[in-house]
Amino acid sequence: MKVIIIGAGMGGLSAGLALKRLGHEVTVYEKVTEIKPVGAAISLWSNGVKCLNYLGLHAQVAALGGQMDSMAYVDGLSGKTMTEFSLQPLVESVGQRPYPVSRAALQQMLLEQFGAGAVHLGMALTDVTDDGHQVTAHFADGHSDTADVLIGADGTHSTVRGYILGQQPERRYAGYVNWNGLVDIAQDIAPAQQWTTFVGQGKRVSVMPIAGGRFYFFFDVPLPKGLANVRSEYQRLLRSYFEGWATPVQTLIDRIDPETTNRVEIHDIEPFMTWTKGRVALLGDAGHSTTPDIGQGGCQAMEDAIVLATALQTNTLGVEDALVRYQNRRNQRTADLVLRARKRCDVTHAKDAAVTQAWYDGLWTEDGSNIIRGIVANIEGNPLD
Ligand code: FAD
Repeated sequence: MKVIIIGAGMGGLSAGLALKRLGHEVTVYEKVTEIKPVGAAISLWSNGVKCLNYLGLHAQVAALGGQMDSMAYVDGLSGKTMTEFSLQPLVESVGQRPYPVSRAALQQMLLEQFGAGAVHLGMALTDVTDDGHQVTAHFADGHSDTADVLIGADGTHSTVRGYILGQQPERRYAGYVNWNGLVDIAQDIAPAQQWTTFVGQGKRVSVMPIAGGRFYFFFDVPLPKGLANVRSEYQRLLRSYFEGWATPVQTLIDRIDPETTNRVEIHDIEPFMTWTKGRVALLGDAGHSTTPDIGQGGCQAMEDAIVLATALQTNTLGVEDALVRYQNRRNQRTADLVLRARKRCDVTHAKDAAVTQAWYDGLWTEDGSNIIRGIVANIEGNPLD
């Protein structure tokens, strides 16, 4: 079959790879001329890594992945460790290490594997038409292309979603702003092989190792939507938001490079179950836009890619039927995870101060088993279990 994919993010390229491996002819169209991911890095939990392994990228993803052996929560104000534990039980439970990776490196790796020649940049999809036999993508520059199937992997602001649903669901502001970037690993910030998270006042500061001796860092601060985004102000603002916090947090703020730091107002979309219309289907954030609080958005896009390719292997009842089977295998799992992330988001960011205080109190006596159980529950149910 000929398949058009709209969007060359991690979802679109993973789907492209999965479909190409099964012999389909795949063309990817991407709106921007240079792909700049919204974040510096991403934690690929074991389910995401399993998807990349399945696509034949076992060695490549391992090479990009940071050595994250343990996890700790630290009281942000006092700097005292609340809980610290090995992630080995997690690895043994699901059979695969998680890998925090640089987004730019992941994107480059997927692009190289898929083949940059089949990715057309600077092509913004504006409309879709489906005559029941073939589907046509129409682009802003007047160009069009026709295929058997069209996959909308065009992210949280998806145009294809509007075509499928006949309306655009609103993005919901989750109530906090996230700053993220990369710094050199340094013991005066946190141990090199640990995912360390400083918590307090409904805020969060986190570092996790990626390859190349770097920490992926992020700061979360509950704030109103729409505040000015002025790069030269990032450090001053972070110093004021984290005034009185422990020395490693101040050190981290001193070391960030505002020029390469991203500032993101975090949103999600209320889960919806219709992902397909005729020969067109959604994949990744276009179908399930989530807050990043359980680190599953990108991993779910990769799971979608595997299930989509598998579903299209059987199209004796038609392509439309294969896409509905794909949708039905994916929409409940991703809806559950979007709502789980939203719940985690609210606890972490003090939507209800008493609930967040109870969480902090519990961290002092946590031995890791509850946290690992929660992460394993997100990973389980993936198509490669
Ligand atoms: P995108 O990566 O958004 O790609 C969509 C592509 O489509 C873009 O390149 C866009 O330019 C293109 N496009 C859009 N419209 C058009 C059009 N009309 N025509 C052509 N092209 C178009 N996930 C995890 O798994 N782990 C994490 O640790 C994690 N951390 C995160 C931290 C933050 C701060 C944020 C914001 C998200 C995080 N996520 C994480 C979520 C993850 O980034 C997304 O789920 C993932 O990027 C979705 O991939 P995608 O391919 O569906 O969409």
